[in-house]
Amino acid sequence: MKFKMRDILLRKDLFIASQNNFKRAILTGYLALLSTLVGVFYTIYHTAYLIDDAYFGYYILMTGGISSLILNRNGYHTIAKSIVLAIGTFVIFLFTTKSDFVTDAHFYYLILAMSSFAIFGYENRGFAIGYCFIVVILFWVSFVSGFSMLPKAGYPEAYVKSNQLINFSIGLLTSAMVLYFMVRLNFKSEAILNRKQEEISRQNQALTKANAELDRFVYSASHDMRAPLTSMLGLIHIARKTEDPREVDQCLQMLESRIHRLDEFIHEIIDISRNARIDVIKQPIHLKGLLNEVLENLRYAKDSSLQVNVEIPADFNFDTDPARIKIILSNLIGNAFKYQDRRKDTPTVSIQALADSRGMTLVVEDNGIGISPDHHAKLFSMFYRASDQAEGSGLGLYITKEAVEKLSGTIKFQSTLGQGSTFTVWLPR
Ligand code: ADP
Repeated sequence: MKFKMRDILLRKDLFIASQNNFKRAILTGYLALLSTLVGVFYTIYHTAYLIDDAYFGYYILMTGGISSLILNRNGYHTIAKSIVLAIGTFVIFLFTTKSDFVTDAHFYYLILAMSSFAIFGYENRGFAIGYCFIVVILFWVSFVSGFSMLPKAGYPEAYVKSNQLINFSIGLLTSAMVLYFMVRLNFKSEAILNRKQEEISRQNQALTKANAELDRFVYSASHDMRAPLTSMLGLIHIARKTEDPREVDQCLQMLESRIHRLDEFIHEIIDISRNARIDVIKQPIHLKGLLNEVLENLRYAKDSSLQVNVEIPADFNFDTDPARIKIILSNLIGNAFKYQDRRKDTPTVSIQALADSRGMTLVVEDNGIGISPDHHAKLFSMFYRASDQAEGSGLGLYITKEAVEKLSGTIKFQSTLGQGSTFTVWLPR
């Protein structure tokens, strides 16, 4: 079991909510311990010097120190602090007046004054300020009047000198300890404050980003939903007016395509919202099965003759979130369908997947129209479109990136206008 000073100074089960009050209680404990030890030390020291001195002063230090320790340990911190200050002051007064200040024991007043601020804290600074005034008055009165409660003692020179040394050393070390405590407390509070400030500014940035996205989202979503609706109303109007059944049929076909477009858009919005809200649930995925579902949907929707090559090792195994993998696959492969180059002999998309001990890599490569470098930087932004070859909302790659990031992965691409594009997704295990 590890020895902890804290468990001696404060009861283990004692709960102090404020970190500062906890630290002050610890410091009070140390001061009470110090007072006891100084009492013990002087008793031994005087016995060794064979000086028949006012031992009761040291007994006060010891008993006061021990009672303060016990009270502080059990949660009576204010009484404990007051006892330490009171006995300290009284004993210093007793011995400085008795020795006519020759042993420099009045140096201890400084420590007590400093300690009073450290243990009472800024909240109770009134006590500490009051205490300092009392000490100054006490010192002046006793110094000027020469009053002493005990008979004055003439100490041998050697004793005075060694006393000065001891008092100076204990005084300096204790002052340094109290100051160190205050500086440390300040440092820690500042560090906590800085951490909180950084956290707030991070949250602020995220909020600003979310707000801007929401603004853009509302603007573009309303536009993307209203445009097909307006054209649908126009088509209905034409269908009503015309007598030609072929024209009516044509209008119905166009209406159907607009409805599909709207449905697709609503699905994209649902995907964005699900990806943001629903937690990642990892499970073994059957990548080939997922891929087939996606390809079937795309072939049905896009009605294309695109050649699809799939390379997935037979022993492929990976645990991840299948719903998000489906989002990633259908958007990347869907784009290969939409942006295929019909002038090429065999428009093709190749899908490769590999899994190793660290993660899985998914590559979707096409020989489609490619993307001009001007668009590369913004390609994953919400509602960003780089081509009018196919209908789209500009949400596909945004959703893909969000889903990849939710799985703690990365997505990169390479594309040359007129040659084709390659999207590479990496997901950690
Ligand atoms: P959408 O397809 O709805 O326009 P995306 O976010 O999926 O939106 O894609 C953004 C843009 O990136 C598209 O408008 C398109 O210009 C370009 N793009 C995406 N994938 C490809 C691809 N495989 N080949 C060529 N261009 C692509």
